Amino acid sequence: MTVSIPTQRIASSRVDEIDLENPDFDLGFGDMFSDHMFQMDYSDGAWRDPRIVPYGPFAIEPGALCLHYGQAVFEGLKAFRGEDGMIRVFRPDRNFSRLERSCQRLCIPTFDRETFLDAIDSLVRIDRNWIPSKRGQALYIRPLVVATESNLNVRPAREYRFFIMTSPVREYFTGGTVALKAERRYTRSAPGGMGYAKTAGNYAASLLPGSESQQLGHDQVLWLDGLEHRYVEEVGQMNIFFKIDGKVLTPDLHGTILPGVTRESVIDILRDEGVAVEECRIDINDILKAHENGSLEEAFGAGTAAVIAPVGCIRIDDTDITINHAEPGPLAQHLYQRIVDIQRGACDDQFGWNRLIE
Ligand SMILES: *Cc1c(COP(=O)(O)O)cnc(C)c1O
Repeated sequence: MTVSIPTQRIASSRVDEIDLENPDFDLGFGDMFSDHMFQMDYSDGAWRDPRIVPYGPFAIEPGALCLHYGQAVFEGLKAFRGEDGMIRVFRPDRNFSRLERSCQRLCIPTFDRETFLDAIDSLVRIDRNWIPSKRGQALYIRPLVVATESNLNVRPAREYRFFIMTSPVREYFTGGTVALKAERRYTRSAPGGMGYAKTAGNYAASLLPGSESQQLGHDQVLWLDGLEHRYVEEVGQMNIFFKIDGKVLTPDLHGTILPGVTRESVIDILRDEGVAVEECRIDINDILKAHENGSLEEAFGAGTAAVIAPVGCIRIDDTDITINHAEPGPLAQHLYQRIVDIQRGACDDQFGWNRLIE
């Protein structure tokens, strides 16, 4: 049984800041936050005081360990208002499992699954007027756990805050494709590192390579492995898929890759449809060869924000390869539609992925 979370409601909602009826109004991505947030604190060896409060700034000590040594992990998932008016959260249990593994990697104390799911249910319910209903739009949910203890010793903190905020977001899928640059110099993560954890530090490390490749005219970095800069790992903050000779390939999870919920969903859908999917090592030179012999049919990224991001071209050293005439391929489009249909309740939720919020 769920116990209701103590709630301090906002005096008057800010929801009229967003104009969902106006087609020219751009929600952006994380540009605005809904009325409320969830919070819970860890001290004296236990998580305590779960509560929902108005969204707004809170005070932490300048000595808070998260600010100094980066003990911070986060998640990203979405709630949707379906065609039937029902509210659905996509696979929050998978985000909880990953948050747990991220916490463990960064020596952050974990809490139980029910606490996480109840917090999301309650927060989405109280701010349901913030959930956009147009296809492709969603209420993005951002849970975060940070070390708040004030101390300068390098050791796991003894105090933390877990909080969740939500933000109405636009559709990402524009009908276009992204241009990638295979990164031979910088690495996102290395064996034994924290590549599989969704942590702030991994994002900080990706900013310089990302902006350098953007200056050269590429949208995203195609990350290669940290040892040889040869095996494909991820694209920007998404997982990557290739379709070669009718078969779908994606890098296998071996600690340096973030195990995406969208990645897992794509694999499940394809297997269910009888499409061959292989999780394996992918040599960037083999991608080049597949392009040269005409067997590289499609490439696309997969992640919560974009769902599916078709790849139009990849720069590999001095060679630019163009995939599917730089148009979104049929498989990428099919997967996008399929996942969005499931998320909006427009088709049968055959895998049981949606958590319905009454
Ligand atoms: C979050 C993230 C992904 C995508 O994961 P989803 O659960 O599908 O959103 C992929 N790569 C990195 C580095 C990420 O941080």
